[in-house]
Amino acid sequence: MERYKFRRFIEFLESREGRGTELVTLYIPPGKRIDEVIGYLRQELSTASNIKSKGTRKAVMDAIESAIQRLKLFKDSGPNGLVVFSGAIPQNGEGTEKIEVYHMTPPEPINFFLYRCDSKFYLEPLKELLKERETYGIIAMDNEDAAIAVFRGKMMVELRTYTSGIPGKHRAGGQSSRRFERLRDQALQEYYSRLAEHANEIFLSYPDIKAIILAGPGPTKDVFLKEGKLHYTFRDKIHVIDTSYAGEEGVREAIDKAADILVNLRLVRERRLVDDLMRRVATQNTVVYGLDSVREALRRRQLELLMVSEELDLVEVTYNCPSCGYEFKETLSEQDLISIIPEKLAGKCPSCGAEGLRLIYQERLMEVLLKEAEETNTKVEIISAGHESGEIFLKTFNGVAGVLKGFSG
Ligand SMILES: [Zn+2]
Repeated sequence: MERYKFRRFIEFLESREGRGTELVTLYIPPGKRIDEVIGYLRQELSTASNIKSKGTRKAVMDAIESAIQRLKLFKDSGPNGLVVFSGAIPQNGEGTEKIEVYHMTPPEPINFFLYRCDSKFYLEPLKELLKERETYGIIAMDNEDAAIAVFRGKMMVELRTYTSGIPGKHRAGGQSSRRFERLRDQALQEYYSRLAEHANEIFLSYPDIKAIILAGPGPTKDVFLKEGKLHYTFRDKIHVIDTSYAGEEGVREAIDKAADILVNLRLVRERRLVDDLMRRVATQNTVVYGLDSVREALRRRQLELLMVSEELDLVEVTYNCPSCGYEFKETLSEQDLISIIPEKLAGKCPSCGAEGLRLIYQERLMEVLLKEAEETNTKVEIISAGHESGEIFLKTFNGVAGVLKGFSG
């Protein structure tokens, strides 16, 4: 959900365009002092005062000055740093420029300072953060070596290695074969227990862990898994794959395969949700659909789960009548906005019949629904549209549906 909002915000910023190179972007890493940044901007301000074109000079200086004002609201740049956008944006053709200022806290720390003045806001580093960055674990093991690692996207955030100290299958001379086998089994059991204990401890400390890849050459990993010593909450998250190595080398080998697994996981999860929804519609009366019914159920806190398509292209428009104060809302598709709003504004107030209705608010329905879900503490799943189940969801349910409470599972 946060990810969705973050992406929408970036898309919004991407839509802002200046007349010339007049838009200021500022990336401030954590720990950088705000007063230092302001000092830097004051220098840029004096540089900008030399710009020849009068219009550009004013626009750039206004943008920098506004960024400084925004920065003064902050004591520090926070644990993830701060990004500020400021610039004169034409609102409706040339000569209608208005200074717009935005700031955001990135979802992950940014580790560089950057000032840029361009015709667009500089968003590449933030877009980079949008790429899949899910947390997953890897255990790469055989009977001799093992490594446990945790990744965020492609970044390794934890790695521990182990050796079992157990000799190979061929017994040392002098020992009876049966006794040797028994001792070896015992040692293996201990090694598996120790490994599982460490894995549980490490992985449980990452509550957002999406998948655990169990890798290694040969059947040892399967035996280890069958022992059942890994924490029960991981059961559905474990994916077994073959690699040619165990230990650290095995971890490296498993990374590429893990990426495919994670993308598939998301698709499988969405497919399951949509399948479940279709099944419920066919067999039980536990699904709400139709935008109005879903919103009504949502407001009454009757929903266990709200499902919304990423492609939902509806906008909620709020009108107000200055004569009687009547306020009403309308939901429109994005294509209809341009034709229907002027029509409405030219018409009469549904309450008192006076003319002169005003448009006071316009918000994407996705945002409205996310807000309402947050207020009512309802779980939300956003279904992407790039796959069959997602398309079915969009077509069959117009992109919005709810599962009623008390019927989950
Ligand atoms: Zn009225």
